[in-house]
Amino acid sequence: MKFYSTNNKQTHVSFREAVLKGIADDGGLFMPNEIPKLPESFFREIEKYSFQEIGYEVAKFFIDDIDEQDLRRIINQAVSFPAPLVPLSENISVLELFHGPTLAFKDFGAQFLANLIEHYLKDEEKETLILVATSGDTGSAVANGFYEKRGIKVALLYPGGKVSKTQEQQLTTLGKNIFAFEVEGVFDDCQQLVKQAFHDNELKNIFSMTSANSINIARLLPQSFYYFEAYKQIKDKSLPFVISVPSGNFGNLTAGLIAQAMGLPIEKFIAAVNANDIFPKYLENGEYKPKDSVQTISNAMDVGNPSNFARIISLFDNDVESIRNTISSSSYSDEQTLSAIKEVKEQFGYTIDPHGAVGYLALKKYLENCENKNVNAVILETAHPSKFSEIVDEVLNEKTKMPERLSACLVKEKKSVLTQKDYASFKEALIKTIT
Ligand SMILES: *Cc1c(COP(=O)(O)O)cnc(C)c1O
Repeated sequence: MKFYSTNNKQTHVSFREAVLKGIADDGGLFMPNEIPKLPESFFREIEKYSFQEIGYEVAKFFIDDIDEQDLRRIINQAVSFPAPLVPLSENISVLELFHGPTLAFKDFGAQFLANLIEHYLKDEEKETLILVATSGDTGSAVANGFYEKRGIKVALLYPGGKVSKTQEQQLTTLGKNIFAFEVEGVFDDCQQLVKQAFHDNELKNIFSMTSANSINIARLLPQSFYYFEAYKQIKDKSLPFVISVPSGNFGNLTAGLIAQAMGLPIEKFIAAVNANDIFPKYLENGEYKPKDSVQTISNAMDVGNPSNFARIISLFDNDVESIRNTISSSSYSDEQTLSAIKEVKEQFGYTIDPHGAVGYLALKKYLENCENKNVNAVILETAHPSKFSEIVDEVLNEKTKMPERLSACLVKEKKSVLTQKDYASFKEALIKTIT
């Protein structure tokens, strides 16, 4: 399978090239040239497949430059934690995507990307340096993916004082081949430093450098696996299947669209957003108007210009009408989100995180306006509520239980290298620390 750039359908690169480049030379995002349909027998017998086997059946069409044994191993290492479907009521369930090392769905993409890069670069003579600018969650997911991988070092750049205490602990306590740089600046400064480093010939002589950017196709692909895994766990598969996706950059939703194009019978996607309402506005009036993002309590969705929008319109050949037929979307305030956390607890006894709560609200609205309420409705629960305990504990007036892997990292010693935001200072600190 070859991959095109959303800026130019005539580009054709291999999967390896798409993964190692991250973004096309023309600034576009990579997409597969075609999306194959899975055989009917696969869907009929899906309950017999393990989550990892499902991953292989999906991935094998897109990745044809890795042999079967290696690809199975890569998938088994990446899909190493479950995605259970937990019922809230007769027809509503949540798909828990937070059982990975950093308690959010981004672990699936980060683990898969890390294992692929390790495979593709295993014969490189130079060490590999992964540079990641992070405003919080992405950095720790990526770092965990590459943790203890031989021949690979990770430099995480984060804005000092601008990430939560929990996030900072997750970024700075891994050690080994993971190095955290605390930049005296904002997230954009971190991103600028990463960009400059990629063009630095002296660094290029020492390292083979790659970014683990969130738009990498290797982060997207494994996210389609768990839509099949959700369907597998649904008992009465004859009912229409609708799925609510808390969305920011729309990577998760795009992965779902790929699963649907492969034949997964999804009747409707519900794109649930917070006050950053560019997408529902686009569905309403057909105009895409990116804005500066506004801060909310579901902060992983604070995106004013969703990067995967280019992929979505490319999948639908720019036809708003068919996008409307497939996706509905609505936006919710922080106040509504807080009441939803309470409501889900009171009605179903389930502790949901602020992102999942936005998903719940959008699903509820969809079902209210929908004639046939007899459906299988699934909300993607994108993060564990204890990651947002300051919010969740206060509104529920109780202490959310924190998984051991998070509480353990909170008491570890923070190790980071403080650096100023100019490139010369950062480079000096980088070279001193990692060579
Ligand atoms: C990243 C993230 C989202 C948004 O996902 P997109 O793929 O960017 O739409 C939602 N919830 C959580 C917890 C996240 O970390």
